[in-house]
Amino acid sequence: MCMEKTPWEKAIEFHGHSCPGLAIGYRVSEIALKRLSEMRSPDEELVAIVENDACGVDAVMLITGCTLGKGNLIYRDLGKQVYTFGSRNGNRALRIAVNGEILHRPDPELAELRQKVFGGTASQEEKARFQAAQARRIEEILHMPEEKFCKVEEIDFTFPSKARIFPSVKCSRCGELVMEPRARVRDGKFVCLDCFEDYSRGW
Ligand SMILES: [Zn+2]
Ligand SMILES: [Zn+2]
Repeated sequence: MCMEKTPWEKAIEFHGHSCPGLAIGYRVSEIALKRLSEMRSPDEELVAIVENDACGVDAVMLITGCTLGKGNLIYRDLGKQVYTFGSRNGNRALRIAVNGEILHRPDPELAELRQKVFGGTASQEEKARFQAAQARRIEEILHMPEEKFCKVEEIDFTFPSKARIFPSVKCSRCGELVMEPRARVRDGKFVCLDCFEDYSRGW
């Protein structure tokens, strides 16, 4: 019997491990797709703006199909568990803010275990206890009521322009090709940004 992997299992496989952070991104994605009546985006139907670059973003990429490579995943380095999803078809967008209590629930026992596990000093028994606590937390995140998990707002949204393909030019210093908008000009010749910076330091 061949069992198709569940979306959650696929997310774990893509991310490399199962963790509460991944569960947060998974849950956010599930809520976004449901509320926007969307499916995983094969092209640029959906746009995601993520405000952190932690574990959950991998679930967002896998579940919603918003990826860096397609240009429909935008990363804003704000350090917040906030995710915005826009549907071009529906011309709608949602801002999903994960409830702070989920992120910062004080659990001194778990904190101590974590320190030991990541510090490499945990016994087998402590490792097992840590795994079990993590698994419980993941289950909780995946199944708690939506209103307890996050706040969802319908927002006005200006869609970013779709990904464009630019011509490349050859850097006159290293000889590598560089997308034209990223190239600089030195002494009338194109240079890539790395070479341009070296130049500023005096090559
Ligand atoms: Zn992780
Ligand atoms: Zn160069």
